[in-house]
Amino acid sequence: MRPSARCLAQALASTRSHSVSFIGLGRMGSPMAYNLFSKTLVENEGSARFVVCDARTAVSEAFAADFAKQFPGTQVDIANSPEEALMASQTIITMLPSTPHVRAVYVESGGILPALHKLPKEAVHATLCIDSTTLDVETARVVSSDISKIGARLVDAPVSGGVAGAKAGTLSFLVGGTKTAFELATPTLERMGKNIIYCGGSGAGLAAKICNNLVLGVQQIVVSEAMLLGQKLGLEPKVLASVINSSTGACWASSVNNPVPGAVPDKSPPCERDYDGGFATRLMLKDMGLAINIAETTKTPLPLGTAANEIYAEVIEDDPDAAEKDFSAVHRYLRLLKNKDV
Ligand code: NAD
Repeated sequence: MRPSARCLAQALASTRSHSVSFIGLGRMGSPMAYNLFSKTLVENEGSARFVVCDARTAVSEAFAADFAKQFPGTQVDIANSPEEALMASQTIITMLPSTPHVRAVYVESGGILPALHKLPKEAVHATLCIDSTTLDVETARVVSSDISKIGARLVDAPVSGGVAGAKAGTLSFLVGGTKTAFELATPTLERMGKNIIYCGGSGAGLAAKICNNLVLGVQQIVVSEAMLLGQKLGLEPKVLASVINSSTGACWASSVNNPVPGAVPDKSPPCERDYDGGFATRLMLKDMGLAINIAETTKTPLPLGTAANEIYAEVIEDDPDAAEKDFSAVHRYLRLLKNKDV
């Protein structure tokens, strides 16, 4: 017979405090979970329990098998739902694509919020959720408020630093929530990142993240334009990139994520792998949409953000495969436009 959720919670009471659950093992989540679990193991001298959960079970299975191979004797359990992940651990990290997925994981049936009602009070109070998804500020605030009404805690902690930063454990976390929740979350975040920045109350981390990605989305397009123009003027990509990167045009979109193969030989940007990996164009389009929506609500003019949003939409419309490619694939889109003499 399947144990009731309450019995399950009691049975797990002794392990729940030593257990961490990670939900969403995508391009960012996988390396983040790897760093978090491996550093927790070392710091807790081996006494820790780990749980992973992803909508794609095969991804969870592959992660668990890989981790067990790297750390023999360590078990990573697979939760079949966010509810199971919550029952198993008092610390839960979520790294999902966007707003609808956060609603599914936190609010809907089988999610964290309904499951919290099934836990004993002490277990609810001990629960800390860290959501690193980039989603809309309003939804994040509502979910956080609903979680805190039950007695648990949630911080928004979106990240900056990309897949390379996730792998190296050097991400910046932009945190929104109460000061107490921030302090409770910090040791966990330090195992995945280098800069843990308190931005203010609930939603403040997301507000900062959306503003940062507005800058990044626009910069990646203008770097692509400049690299194309320079090539047309006969400049070697490597020479042009080194000029920009040591001049006033310097930015991450050029110095690390340069969209032209061979332009930054000491780095390994996605363009070197046909734009595979990195930050998917569909996610950059999503972030531009988040900026535009919040700008409309706050009556903030966003002429460059609006133009960039249209360009990323065109990149995907022109080549649907580009949706999964790194957003620096905008360079390829512009190059082909140029070839079409538009
Ligand atoms: P991704 O699409 O690669 O991964 C998302 C993962 O969530 C997938 O494995 C998916 O199966 C899983 N998922 C979706 N719905 C789920 C559900 N209901 N339950 C459980 N799992 C579910 O995305 P990513 O690139 O890892 O990005 C994650 C977040 O981080 C996004 O909000 C993105 O904007 C942000 N971000 C990404 C980057 C980057 O460089 N990729 C950088 C900074 C921030």
